[in-house]
Amino acid sequence: MKKEHEYNGKTKFIVVTGGVISGLGKGVAAASIGALLSNRLKVIPVKCDGYLNTDPGTMNPTEHGEVYVLDDGGEVDMDFGHYERFLNVVARSDWSLTMGKVFKLILEKERRGDFLGHTVQFIPHVTNVIKEHFYEVANSENADVLLIEIGGTVGDLENQFFIEAARQLSHDVGSENCMFVHLTYVPIPSGVKEQKSKPTQMSVRELNERGIYPDIIIARCEEFLKPHIKEKIGLFCNLPASHVISGVDVKHVYECPLVYDKEGVPEILLKKLRIYAPPKLDRWSRLVDTMNRNDVSPRKVLTVAIGGKYTRLEDSYASIVESLNHVSAHLDVHVEIRWIDTEKLEKHPEEVEKDMQGIDAVIVPGGFGTRGIEGKIVLIQYVREHKIPFLGICYGMQLAVVEFARHVCGMAEAGTMETEADSHVKDPVIAYLPGQDKIREMGASMRLGGHDVLISKGSLAERVYGATEIRERFRHRYEVNPEYVERLEKGGIIFSGKAKNENIMQILELADHPFFMACQFHPELKSSLLKPAPLFLGLLKAVDERG
Ligand code: GLN
Repeated sequence: MKKEHEYNGKTKFIVVTGGVISGLGKGVAAASIGALLSNRLKVIPVKCDGYLNTDPGTMNPTEHGEVYVLDDGGEVDMDFGHYERFLNVVARSDWSLTMGKVFKLILEKERRGDFLGHTVQFIPHVTNVIKEHFYEVANSENADVLLIEIGGTVGDLENQFFIEAARQLSHDVGSENCMFVHLTYVPIPSGVKEQKSKPTQMSVRELNERGIYPDIIIARCEEFLKPHIKEKIGLFCNLPASHVISGVDVKHVYECPLVYDKEGVPEILLKKLRIYAPPKLDRWSRLVDTMNRNDVSPRKVLTVAIGGKYTRLEDSYASIVESLNHVSAHLDVHVEIRWIDTEKLEKHPEEVEKDMQGIDAVIVPGGFGTRGIEGKIVLIQYVREHKIPFLGICYGMQLAVVEFARHVCGMAEAGTMETEADSHVKDPVIAYLPGQDKIREMGASMRLGGHDVLISKGSLAERVYGATEIRERFRHRYEVNPEYVERLEKGGIIFSGKAKNENIMQILELADHPFFMACQFHPELKSSLLKPAPLFLGLLKAVDERG
């Protein structure tokens, strides 16, 4: 049978698996290993997930965390946020491989007649599809390193074909071109108060049963591993103690590459894969130091309120929290985040005064639906009138327009078509994007991914970005209604960013305010430690400069 994609003879593969328990931060661990190499090599991450959705776009964010949107419009797992932030790459949808996608590919091949005469089997056909996907990504990206993260923990039924494919991969490309990293957990039970290696040994044994012998074990632990624990794990798991790495708890995930560097990971990579790429982490390390110092003795504390629905807020807005962390390192401040429950504000608008005590800046993030939006409007009115620095993101921008229309432009019944199902909207200042009303029932369809934005000369947006043409990422179904733009502008809204080739308002700002900006896109998806998103930086600079 003809193979569609084969090994190019150059790419090195690093496969990251996890064991003992879930939630150990495999994405961060994989991204941190990549960060040690990405300074000189092209490191491309591939995430394998065992679930049957073809992508996580339709999954509930309170269950699965934030939906991360890529430049090519793909909706992927939050881990891609770590990859983009750590590896300085613009990820693509086909770097995410779910079992749903694998089965879809298999069935398409079967219908096309690719397997004629053969019984289609899990092995070799499913595993071949997985391996060919790895080769295809490696080849099309011309990757020096393909960093493959296998979701879940070893032993999970739903991930076993990914693990088997990885075992075969190592055999196909040769062990000098493929290495395995296994992430485990070393608990310190409260009764005995000492580090315990048995769960790691058991998890590695499970991996061994599947024919995989890890080259590096990263053991998560609340403290650095004791030398005798490293020895013991090494002895039972067939590797030198120096290949057992302390995945010690850190305050900020950005510290992980620094820890791995000190623990000797680059040397192991060099020895095993013969890739010489000494990491360059000086700037990164200085920024992490600034964050850590400000956690203990801050030069200044800036308190930022995020107004949203009060359900598992932190995971649903993970990239916003990260963006604020990035800015804190650059401005040498500590950012304190306060969550404001806008559903509560909706019922008790009089509490806004109390909620806003001690708040320096407000962010109203993206969202969907009707619940809590009147609370968000209360909050936006307050910050506009009290001249508190404000950043509205996506739904946050749309609601800023609704608030302005109602209270400044005299359209008391202005609203968004998004709530039309619940009550009639007299002045729909936010309306469907062209074409989106017809696909209302399909749920997953939206304006997605990266688009170019033109910024007006002389605007605050131009000052903040230092550019007049930018690219940002979108995920929305509604927009500022073009029919109302003139009236809104007459009232004083400045639309300082517009879509390059469409008549869609993308950024708004107000003149007589220290910092009132909102955007239709999600700037948090392009922020990184070395390069924080300009709008977040602008927001907190405005606070910092106020004194
Ligand atoms: N619900 C709004 C829309 O679909 C905003 C979406 C968002 O905030 N991501 O346009």
